[in-house]
Amino acid sequence: MKAVAVLPGKPHSVHQREVPEPGLGHQPHPHVCAVPEGRAVKVQTLQVGVDATDREINEALYGHAPPGGDFLVIGHESFGRVVEVGDKVAGLVPGDFVSCTVRRPGKSLFDVIGRNDITSEETYYERGINLCHGFMTEAFVDDAEYMVKVPVDLKHLGVLSEPASVCAKAIEQAYLAQVRLQVWEPRRAFVLGAGQIGLLATMMLRLRGLEVYTLATRPGPHLKSSIAEAYGATYVGTGQKSMADLAREVGKPDLIFEATGNAEVCFRSMEVLAHNGALIWTSITGGQYDVTLDAAKINLEWVLGNKLLVSSVNGNRRHFEQGIQALSLGELTYSGVTGRILTHPVAGLGRFAEMMKLLEDKEALKVYVDIAG
Ligand code: BGC
Ligand code: ZN
Repeated sequence: MKAVAVLPGKPHSVHQREVPEPGLGHQPHPHVCAVPEGRAVKVQTLQVGVDATDREINEALYGHAPPGGDFLVIGHESFGRVVEVGDKVAGLVPGDFVSCTVRRPGKSLFDVIGRNDITSEETYYERGINLCHGFMTEAFVDDAEYMVKVPVDLKHLGVLSEPASVCAKAIEQAYLAQVRLQVWEPRRAFVLGAGQIGLLATMMLRLRGLEVYTLATRPGPHLKSSIAEAYGATYVGTGQKSMADLAREVGKPDLIFEATGNAEVCFRSMEVLAHNGALIWTSITGGQYDVTLDAAKINLEWVLGNKLLVSSVNGNRRHFEQGIQALSLGELTYSGVTGRILTHPVAGLGRFAEMMKLLEDKEALKVYVDIAG
């Protein structure tokens, strides 16, 4: 069967190759963990989304091949249809729609209790990213433990399950950490960045009833601003109104969700957070970037304001479920809006070059490959 892969370490090596079609007995990542007897699920891949991580993997900035090989099948944002299940699988039958989690367990205590997303080991195993083959193939097999069901009426948004899990986890982590305050009722949120993560976070925070300002560089109106506004948020182009000016105008935010990919914004956002507020960092920033800030002032304000910084990456099964639930409620509340994120379908695995090129296009909100109908 066909797969799209890279040669980690070699820039711009994305290519299509033949790999054996997996059967239920296939072990997708035997160097990490085994799929227990009878618990395998085989999925026909319908769509796979790509993001900046895939671009960086193709630029050889990130990612490793599974041991013993020189290639890595990419793709970590999966959506497919179950075609076969092992005899010990409960809750999934052929025909069900699913997405699959990304990270597989290491050996830390967190991994042992099913929290691979917060492993304390420096090496992490992620399908399509690091040390494990991904989902950009015609079919894949994994442990039912890692498969999360997508309701049939949500199948048009199924490919957003993974990004939605990342947002759901980040927001959940902030709310869990804020239990430290005994009472926390955030009213105002700034979402920094209007890419897929920024927009999904906008939706999830609106569903929680917050007044949301979604900030990005380019002044609206354009697709991103119109999606943010359709979720009932206010879009702000920072070229015209800075984060600091906005905070002066509408008040400081109780919650900031940072998803710009820009390291300076991550730190600058510390200057505007309200007392007792939570700042969530989700950007994965490559390279080196120096910034000058008034560190004494930030430290003083953070200490005197009991402020919290929470960083979040990846999502485990529970976060996929939360993400899919949020996509469902979002669809009922803001009908048809989330689908507008799906801007750039690519027809078939053979168009991998076009897919990578689109990842450089700032207008391309979501690039995904249609593998089967
Ligand atoms: C993925 C996460 C992953 C992270 C770090 C992101 O693009 O969505 O699942 O944990 O990259 O590799
Ligand atoms: Zn990703």
